[in-house]
Amino acid sequence: MFNHIKPSAPDPIMSLMEAYMQDPHPKKVNLGIGLYYDHQGNIPLMRAVHIAEQRLLEQQRPHTYPPIEGSALFARQVQTLLFGEAAAQSARHLATVQTVGGSGALKLGADFLCHYLSRREIWVSDPTWANHWAIFEGAGLRVNTYPYFDNASGELRFDAMLDAFSALPEGAVVLLHPCCHNPTGTDLSQAQWRAVIDVLQRRRLLPFFDIAYQGFGDGLEEDCFALRETLKTDLDFLVSNSFSKNVALYGQRLGGLSVCCGSADSAANVKGALKTLIRRSYSCPPTHGSQIVEALLADDHLRQLWASELASMRQRIKQTRVSLAAGLEQGGTTLDYRRIRDQKGMFSYTGLNEQQLSQLRQQYSIYLVAPGRMCLPGLNQHNLDYVTAAILDVTL
Ligand code: PMP
Repeated sequence: MFNHIKPSAPDPIMSLMEAYMQDPHPKKVNLGIGLYYDHQGNIPLMRAVHIAEQRLLEQQRPHTYPPIEGSALFARQVQTLLFGEAAAQSARHLATVQTVGGSGALKLGADFLCHYLSRREIWVSDPTWANHWAIFEGAGLRVNTYPYFDNASGELRFDAMLDAFSALPEGAVVLLHPCCHNPTGTDLSQAQWRAVIDVLQRRRLLPFFDIAYQGFGDGLEEDCFALRETLKTDLDFLVSNSFSKNVALYGQRLGGLSVCCGSADSAANVKGALKTLIRRSYSCPPTHGSQIVEALLADDHLRQLWASELASMRQRIKQTRVSLAAGLEQGGTTLDYRRIRDQKGMFSYTGLNEQQLSQLRQQYSIYLVAPGRMCLPGLNQHNLDYVTAAILDVTL
């Protein structure tokens, strides 16, 4: 029955991670997969998460089934986190469901687009996170690109992006990263977002925002600028969000899908459609992660503790960018170190070419994702000098 199945192509980021694990080099450095590491090189258990988890354990709750869409409290908290207090006062209506990580939200959104809106295509930025392609193609959508970033100059291709949006057919779905663009780390300014939203409105396009790094760019509120501006318009749109990075709940698989609709009836019907899609795929979401986030966000003290821990993570990445860029500048690198300094979020599109990447890996056991994406939190006080010297060596 199964003999015709050929070996599958491995996921490039996961295979890089495996190669790193097997590398015996004592100074090896993992700057590949998108995980936040602290200054000791560990994935943190956030204090606020730990306290929330302890409280949950003390309650000794049974592990019953949750509602298909997750808890109502969780949905309201997601809406407030993304849209602030404006969510409750807006004339627009949000349908929010809990999902299996941000990836699950993207897949659910893709299924919704296919089955309920008869969409067959989506437009994503060139470049974008590789799994966007896999998820949308896997759901049956053709994936097209719009211009976003010029790797040679390190510049955003803003005018070309606007032109591309202007030429799209009415109702076309465009995937947008509200903050911390993966993989380039290059975000739009607020003025540029306003211009994009104008075109989306003029052309009656359907935005699908994917926010996986809220809090890693300029701040929890600031990173939602594009979402909150779009909520002020009459556009319908989708938002997938993830708690993998900003609550460091990677393995709990926690995220949300929110659909912004024009009326309460429409939102109720959309929620019903999402529940149908969930029920027939995995029935209902896991509960441990959402209970942690519910406890954390419902308690002022814990929420503030979490926000301040997240701010420290953000600051650490910014400081790392400054230190690496300064080291490269002082060493006289030919690399455009300003990109590393100025880009936002976990990643930098460094501009390191394929040959330099392979030299870093062969000679120094330093792992980056092609073409030149560096995950900044992989750097710390123990390996920064080593990585700086290695990059100088391959870029002088
Ligand atoms: N969108 C983007 C842009 C991402 O980078 C990621 C995670 N790498 C996700 C979605 C998915 O997040 P999760 O791990 O919660 O599925």
